[in-house]
Amino acid sequence: MPDVRVRFAPSPTGSLHVGGARTALFNWLYARHTSGKFVLRIEDTDKKRSTPEAVQVIFDGLKWLNIDWDEAPLFQSERLSAHKDAVAALLQNGSAYRCFCAPETIVADRQAAEKRGEGYSYPRTCLNLNEADIQAKLDAGEPYAVRFKIPEGVTEFNDAVLGLISTPNKDIDDFILLRRDGTPVYMVAVVADDAHQGVTHIIRGEDHTTNTPKQILLYQASGLPVPQFAHIPLILGPDKKRLSKRHGATSVLEYRADGILAEAMRNYLALLGWSPGDDREVMSLDELIAAFDLDRLNKSGAVFDETKLEWMNGQYISTLPIDVIWQNIEPHLTKALTEKNIPLPDAETGLQFAELYRERLRSFREAPQKLLLFFKDPSEYDEKTVRKRWKQDSPDHLRLLQQKLEELPNWDHDRLEELLNSLADRLGLGRSKLIHPLRLALTGGAASPGIFAVMVLLGKDCCLRRIRLALERIK
Ligand code: GLU
Repeated sequence: MPDVRVRFAPSPTGSLHVGGARTALFNWLYARHTSGKFVLRIEDTDKKRSTPEAVQVIFDGLKWLNIDWDEAPLFQSERLSAHKDAVAALLQNGSAYRCFCAPETIVADRQAAEKRGEGYSYPRTCLNLNEADIQAKLDAGEPYAVRFKIPEGVTEFNDAVLGLISTPNKDIDDFILLRRDGTPVYMVAVVADDAHQGVTHIIRGEDHTTNTPKQILLYQASGLPVPQFAHIPLILGPDKKRLSKRHGATSVLEYRADGILAEAMRNYLALLGWSPGDDREVMSLDELIAAFDLDRLNKSGAVFDETKLEWMNGQYISTLPIDVIWQNIEPHLTKALTEKNIPLPDAETGLQFAELYRERLRSFREAPQKLLLFFKDPSEYDEKTVRKRWKQDSPDHLRLLQQKLEELPNWDHDRLEELLNSLADRLGLGRSKLIHPLRLALTGGAASPGIFAVMVLLGKDCCLRRIRLALERIK
């Protein structure tokens, strides 16, 4: 067995789509698992779309995910002459032939066939030209395309995911290899470049499956070894349709901007169409590399579930050092506070926020919305919670708390807790009977981190003011 060489061959489109990133990741994991090589090929023959920026976006997305490549990337557009040579060699060895048919004739024949409700395939008119005819046309300077002479028989391959796929060759048209303008088609470029890059395994999206028999015939006609194929299932949106812009963010860099961590994205993408065979979900890079293999790729489409991605992100956030969490929260919070003309917290307070929310954030983007309670007194109180938590005796309880808190000399977590516990005891109440109305008064809602930690961060003045505001409101 030759050493594994896999590739990622994106066509620059202006973004690195999660589907592309997942393809890159699977190839990369396979290379690292087998101690093989992972190479890049930029399929940039469409010059309009392949701007330097569009190429850079691919590099940036891969680098963000820590997917590194082992050799200098190959730019497909720079291999034009090799692609032409590949077609010339096929002409030379009789696997291809010149087609002088006028494009208009072909279009008309195709339309006529469609009208009759039939599929069109090229009737091989030019396959039957003899040497002298061909020479005469060449001498007369007639333009021609080059077509692949599809041999008889059946083309089979054993896909690592889909199993055995057989295609009768009669279903494959003598497709064009070289256009009349002298440019080779994509199918030629991809086979020539995969052979040139020594690719042994082609792991790519299922949408390429129908290209594979044609490519295999090209490998065979060119005397090249056929790689192993693995066509991975498409990524679907929640409606089970192919994931697209309609479903929201699809580019990995958008997720980065939204505060998703690279580690979480990578871990999540790895589980889209692959599983380690046990119930592990949060897996380190080393674990992923050790477990990844082609035999655990799934056949069925993988639904991209943002909630799951955010859950995964939360798992990773909770393992980060506090200062890193704060570094990630800060830009989002700064933006939100600046928009509202609220002064920014100092770094020490920031670290306290990070500590308090370390296990409560699913993405950094949601941090401002969660943290806003520390910067603004509640302007309204969540209605459902009001109905549920503010009862007849709540004003009395809040007033008692207010009094006790005013007298409290040391404003720290344990003192606050003791205070509340002893008041609850005195009133003969469960402590939650005091905590819920208090939380509502302080935060305007039903959910927050531990109330004593919140109170420490809010500070004494703020807590007393908010209780006062709430009492006014309850009236
Ligand atoms: N350039 C193709 C794409 O971006 C990939 C071709 C392949 O993987 O064979 O879809």
